[in-house]
Amino acid sequence: SVSMTQKTVVLYPSLGVGHLNPMVELANVFLRLGQAVVIAVVNPPDKDAVSEDAMARLSTANPAITFRLLPVPSCGKDHYSHPVLRTIDVLRAANPSLREFLRTLPAVDALVVDMFCVDALDVAAELDIPAYFFFASAVGDLAIMLHLPYYYPAAPCSFKDMGKTVLRFPGVPPIRAVDMSTTMLDRESDIAKERLRHYTRMPGARGFLTNSFDWLEARALEALRYGLCTPGRPTPPVYCIGPLVLPGQTGGSAGGRHACLEWLDAQPERGVVFLCFGSLGTFSAAQLAEVARGLQDSGHRFLWVVRSPPEQKDESVEPDLQASLPEGFLEKTAGRGFVVKNWAPQAEVLRHGAVGAFVTHCGWNSVLEGIVSGVPMICWPLYAEQRMNKVHVVEEMKVGVAVEGYEEGLVKAEEVAAKVRLVMASEEGSKLREKLVAAKEMAAAAVKDGGSSDVAFHEFLMDLEKCRSEKSG
Ligand code: UDP
Repeated sequence: SVSMTQKTVVLYPSLGVGHLNPMVELANVFLRLGQAVVIAVVNPPDKDAVSEDAMARLSTANPAITFRLLPVPSCGKDHYSHPVLRTIDVLRAANPSLREFLRTLPAVDALVVDMFCVDALDVAAELDIPAYFFFASAVGDLAIMLHLPYYYPAAPCSFKDMGKTVLRFPGVPPIRAVDMSTTMLDRESDIAKERLRHYTRMPGARGFLTNSFDWLEARALEALRYGLCTPGRPTPPVYCIGPLVLPGQTGGSAGGRHACLEWLDAQPERGVVFLCFGSLGTFSAAQLAEVARGLQDSGHRFLWVVRSPPEQKDESVEPDLQASLPEGFLEKTAGRGFVVKNWAPQAEVLRHGAVGAFVTHCGWNSVLEGIVSGVPMICWPLYAEQRMNKVHVVEEMKVGVAVEGYEEGLVKAEEVAAKVRLVMASEEGSKLREKLVAAKEMAAAAVKDGGSSDVAFHEFLMDLEKCRSEKSG
């Protein structure tokens, strides 16, 4: 191995805890390898700020990381056609603050930004600091996104008007138009135009760090490395350094183990279906009723994280289970079902030996957590790029199946029961499980010393070394 001097890296996430958390995981990788990291957190005076509580918890849990809050003016505008447009505006307004902060540091070897902080590339260029993206979703998503500026403007119409037409992108399985990112469905929308501008700029970075590993997404990686996604323009190197997943904190904030884990202790091995839909997923009352009936009819054991349907949300935090779920459901399934309100310790639940299937919205962190735990997935995508992730999971990685009907807005009870039975108790389910045993092993191997992700991270550090010598030379 080559001797390297310590580097100073500034990590720059988009707004909110959801984007900050993956950067904290990344920061810990830098620290383990003896590098110095600062996370610069954009701190607007209004609703986009990370709460003081959350900041305090993160700094206490990660004493070696320096967190630096960057003030930004209040975002004047209040009405946006899409929430991400506001985020992009706030982040752009944070550029002067970021510039001032970077200037106060004696030397910065790299600025690592997440996928919404594209305009921070301007600051990095101005200060002559190498900029990298930390892309916390599938490499397959990156391949599609980088190719969209070549594809979409020339397409006959918006994806929303193409229905189930199959589209082809380098490095990923054929994908139906209806499964593209929700932000890209309407070509004429401001959000689609803005994201397309971002995707056009992204190859301007010096490289991409991704939360994935070579084995899992070999084809997408190859397409990127051969430059197939950005014809006529070099694609910066892609370093797969994952999977970085939450360690699965033992004990909740209250200290004790979550009741659902105690319940799992008493269940047979791989005997429970776990249903959880990310930090934002909610279902209508009609959809909740279908899921309930499906679980009841499947005959299998289940652990289900339930939120209030959006139409009956009265700001009361706790959902009223008796009101949200069909009459008699809780009684009839008592003993073989466990319903959790709002939030379960997902990473820990998935690692529990009693879990045999994971019904997921396909948020990328959830997919990775399913893989490192070796649990087959039943994909039920809801928003953002989750439908694309479903395609990667089902068609490319072959570690899950999808429910039918999500495109039409209602998945029927029969379908829920059928897919639960398929994964829990069929030949096809056993095949999936075998694939997951392999995937889990490969994930663990990737992050070991000398594994593909460890090597990729060192290659990235070598690139920083190279930048330094280019500058001083
Ligand atoms: N999560 C959890 N309990 C819940 C819901 C979510 O612990 O009840 C965690 C989950 O383990 C994952 C993250 O929240 O780490 C969700 O991230 P993901 O990328 O899957 O989806 P998003 O919430 O961003 O849509």
